[in-house]
Amino acid sequence: MKNLTLLIFSFFLISSSPNSDIDKRIDSIMSNMTIEQKIGQMAQINLTVIANGPDKWSSFEPLQIDKDRIEKVINKYHVGSILNTTNNRARDISTWNKIIDEIQSYALSSETAIPILYGIDGIHGATYIDGATMFPQQIGTAATWDIKNSFNMGMVTAYETRAAGIPWNFSPVLDLGQDPRFPRQFETFGEDPYLTTQMGLASLEGQQGIDNNMNNDFVVATSIKHFLGYQTTISGKDRTPSYIPEHVLRELHLPAFEKAISQGAKTIMINSGLINGIPVHADRYLLTNLLREELGFDGIILTDWEDINKLHDRDKVAESRKEAIKIAINAGIDMSMIPYDYEEFCDNLLELVKEGEISEARIDESVRRILKLKIELGLFDKKNKSDYSDFGSQKHQNYAYDAAVESVTLLKNENSILPIKNKNKILVTGPNGNSMRTLNGAWTYSWQGEKTDFFAEDHNTIYEAIKNKFTDSDVKYIPGVTYPINEDYDKEPKFEYYDQYFDKKKEAIKYANEEADIIILALGENSYTEKPGDLNDINLNRLQLDFANEIIKSGKPVVLVLNIGRPRLISEIESKVNAVINIYLPGNFGGDALADILYGSVNPSGKLPYSYPLYSNSLIPYNYKPAEVQNNAQGAYNYVGEVNNLYDFGFGLSYTSFEYSNLKLNSNQFSKNENIYLSVDIKNTGEIEGKEVIQVYSKDHYASLTPDIKRLRAFKKIELKPGEIKNVKFEIKVQDLGFINYQNKHVVETGTFDLMVGSLKSELIIQ
Ligand code: BGC
Repeated sequence: MKNLTLLIFSFFLISSSPNSDIDKRIDSIMSNMTIEQKIGQMAQINLTVIANGPDKWSSFEPLQIDKDRIEKVINKYHVGSILNTTNNRARDISTWNKIIDEIQSYALSSETAIPILYGIDGIHGATYIDGATMFPQQIGTAATWDIKNSFNMGMVTAYETRAAGIPWNFSPVLDLGQDPRFPRQFETFGEDPYLTTQMGLASLEGQQGIDNNMNNDFVVATSIKHFLGYQTTISGKDRTPSYIPEHVLRELHLPAFEKAISQGAKTIMINSGLINGIPVHADRYLLTNLLREELGFDGIILTDWEDINKLHDRDKVAESRKEAIKIAINAGIDMSMIPYDYEEFCDNLLELVKEGEISEARIDESVRRILKLKIELGLFDKKNKSDYSDFGSQKHQNYAYDAAVESVTLLKNENSILPIKNKNKILVTGPNGNSMRTLNGAWTYSWQGEKTDFFAEDHNTIYEAIKNKFTDSDVKYIPGVTYPINEDYDKEPKFEYYDQYFDKKKEAIKYANEEADIIILALGENSYTEKPGDLNDINLNRLQLDFANEIIKSGKPVVLVLNIGRPRLISEIESKVNAVINIYLPGNFGGDALADILYGSVNPSGKLPYSYPLYSNSLIPYNYKPAEVQNNAQGAYNYVGEVNNLYDFGFGLSYTSFEYSNLKLNSNQFSKNENIYLSVDIKNTGEIEGKEVIQVYSKDHYASLTPDIKRLRAFKKIELKPGEIKNVKFEIKVQDLGFINYQNKHVVETGTFDLMVGSLKSELIIQ
């Protein structure tokens, strides 16, 4: 009887759930689909396949669809998804709407009448849309330590992407940015799992909305990426092998993905690399056992770029491209970002199904997921266009400025040289001093960001912003060193450009020696991402270091501005400059944000979301193991092992000072399922208003797996007037002090722990 009631009750639940309508709709669509049509849904091509030509730097030809090519793609191969742009460049909003409408009406009038799922990379704003609002890259957003900035970036990016008629965004990046050498560290929220998770969830909420209602015209479906462990390679180079034990994958890399999935992330993109010798696209354990079965993810699993082919072409685990498809689809892939040789993919997949190597049931599962998202997004339904008058609006730009200004991280300020007081002649110099490209980094109006100075010419470079702000000063820009300007992806200043470089350098040094009162030295990196950003030497480029040394010899005060996507080493010059400011890749409002901070109209409040290394062979994140530090071992050796950071994770100065006191816990003994209530007082002891990030770390004294030296458990950014004291409270679950043990299980072990805030510490015992 009891069982029967349960049965009736659950039947009622299932049949009355809103999903059942969608399921019925999917059933009815699928009942009319041939296997060829189903396979087509699993194919994603680049827009270039149906429109215009390959990447061209100088091509501003109008975006046009080729009738023969789209006919074949949609009516012969029934392709389900298209991504990105043509000619590797942004287009304006009306072009996007026209092109998307054209594609959709083609698809909806085809035999299957299934709309296209269009996806794009809107990484720090709507990358490929002219006039979109460009925020700091994720690394800068993380440096604000305020999740509202991540939410705002997500919300604006979604709005502006949807304004172009595009409903799916390949963001946020939830990889851990633990390796300062990696060419995509700037795309992450930094090296810490907790900070990454909090920022990532806020971005997800901004993009998908609070209720994940995809039928809302101002949100997009996200693709969290790149599952899993993508940025932790041995070589520090993109798409190279990683060796990560499962307990470390679960302890550090998985939490952000796990939480994003339970918050409702619609799709996920897979790591293009390999872990422990297995290409992730071939790893059934990670894709099906872990992601599908254990985490219960039921959205679309999307490959990264050409990654099925790579199982054959690059990784040699498949003897042919056809076998590669078999391995990947059977491992759990739903959709292949092919993105060019779609005929080959579809033909091979069809053969595999006919040969019984891939079951039709496996194909059906994927097609159901793809159709479900298309239905949820309202792509089947004809609707009137919503009003997107906030596209690129002042309101959106203000959000981007706020994030930029809060990201700026003051790392050194000798004798309070900043904010700048009464200087007549300001020299702005260095290759990053007058460039919108370097302020934004990659994924800005194109993949590598090389067209940004054209698209963002209305915004202010560092030089322009300083000139606008310091109206009573004489502000001059002399580059001193420049990046090569050419078509390919050359990143670093080069010795081939020496003659050119020499003249510019002489002019800058002469002005520094003879005229300048203060020098803003803007150094760093040119824009890059993925393989073009691979690095052989983490030191800041030699020409820039030499130039810095000569500028420093002028004896004038030097403010070093770092405009970088990863912490390039500056150890050779750091002690010789008077101030250091890290602006990361702050986006289109980064110049203005920096100028406001140099001027003193805003007090800096950014904190490093990564450890800034001192030496090239000492590149470890803050949560290292105790064995990294081994001082003066007794016996034959006097061995010293140290952790050498130039600046630590979480570090950042302010123009005011803060004092921490009264760290209190509600108890010092806890059982495993209790919560810890922590409170601490913060006082602004300086003369101006400022923001401070309260960071709570834990330290496990002893554990069955060597514990990390410390781990971030909570944070909050607050604002304090001079003399003001605030009491800040945190609630931390004892469960969150646990870890993943060697058997890959989450455990909380009894014993003594510290909770640390600033320089305060409180001990507790878990029983
Ligand atoms: C990148 C992804 C990106 C995709 C589509 C790949 O090369 O790794 O992050 O979403 O291209 O542009």
